[in-house]
Amino acid sequence: MASLYGTTWDTAIIGAGPAGGALAIDLATFGHKVLLIDKERFPREKVCGDLLGTSALETLKKLGICEKVRRVGYELKRTRIYRRIEVRFLGAVHYPIVLQKEHAARESTFILERRILDSILCEEAATKGAVFTTGKVTEIDAKDSSLAFVRIAGSDTPVRARIAVIATGADILLAEKLGMITRKEATGFAARCYIQSDFTMDEAAFYFDRYRNPSGYAWLFPMGNRMYNAGCGYLRCNQRIDLKKEFHSFLSEFDPAAELLKHGKIASPLRGGSLRTGLAGSNPVGPGAVLAVGETIGTTRPTTGEGIGPAMWSAGIAAQVINEVLRSGDIGLLKTYPERLVRQS
Ligand SMILES: Cc1cc2nc3c(=O)[nH]c(=O)nc-3n(C[C@H](O)[C@H](O)[C@H](O)COP(=O)(O)OP(=O)(O)OC[C@H]3O[C@@H](n4cnc5c(N)ncnc54)[C@H](O)[C@@H]3O)c2cc1C
Repeated sequence: MASLYGTTWDTAIIGAGPAGGALAIDLATFGHKVLLIDKERFPREKVCGDLLGTSALETLKKLGICEKVRRVGYELKRTRIYRRIEVRFLGAVHYPIVLQKEHAARESTFILERRILDSILCEEAATKGAVFTTGKVTEIDAKDSSLAFVRIAGSDTPVRARIAVIATGADILLAEKLGMITRKEATGFAARCYIQSDFTMDEAAFYFDRYRNPSGYAWLFPMGNRMYNAGCGYLRCNQRIDLKKEFHSFLSEFDPAAELLKHGKIASPLRGGSLRTGLAGSNPVGPGAVLAVGETIGTTRPTTGEGIGPAMWSAGIAAQVINEVLRSGDIGLLKTYPERLVRQS
């Protein structure tokens, strides 16, 4: 195996979520020497609704791991959208009504814990020849445009790479240090927990209450084995909302959630995370030989909060650009990345 510090890597990718994992697979498949670094030891948990939409599955297919994911994921056949509306009478009295709309899945949608999905991506990258290492990257020295020096906590020697890619999700610290962040504040927040229940619900539920929380949404996703992913979030909202309070109101007011809890229990703590959306708030190209992909550059969809598919989509575009740079030696081609992202979005 190539030595971590003695090798000049073609690309060092920091962060092994969907963006970093997908990029590692693509670049290793092109034949490049790829180092994938994550601060967590895998398999690791990632706070997520665990829903793989059509765009995620399409990319997983291109990466050659869709069948593997389908085998271990839970397929959703139907989704039901619930909207709580209020009928106003004489200005003061409100009658809340919950409207429902059922959608049979036209295309496959799967639920798969991120602990498993992200490990599958990393394993595939390793199969293609990428090297994975655990360590927290504290700094990227990008003064030189022909080499990036990546510092991992606990080591005096930096990792050398021809190109460094920041794929650290909503954790923007490294990108910020390099002046790549133009808006620090996240554009949304979401939180989720797991519920274990003997009550059977085999369809996904989305819940919107535009009166109480206009930019908010909540969900319940079956995962198989009596487990459910339940959470809530909000998007495009400047003020910070108390998600814990929102979540507990959702659990008590939304009948299917109350039913699940009547026959079960909350099986994990409620955990939350930021969302960066709308391909905004950053410059995807840094100084020297540095790029960023995924949630760091705001790939998450501003209307739905879906982030796994879009993060991998940006990785696909970055892989094309990096491949061209490594083959031609023309570092100037990195500058075409933002425009390609916009053109293909
Ligand atoms: C509660 C919640 C629910 C969500 N539900 C869904 C959903 O159902 N479907 C969906 O498509 N999207 C969902 N999203 C969005 C989705 O989770 C993200 O958009 C997606 O994970 C972004 O992928 P990424 O690869 O860019 O970053 P991440 O998945 O965040 O991966 C970043 C990786 O970088 C590592 N890292 C960070 N800093 C460092 C460092 N300094 N050194 C080394 N490693 C580092 C982290 O450990 C992590 O593994 C949800 C988000 C939240 C918060």
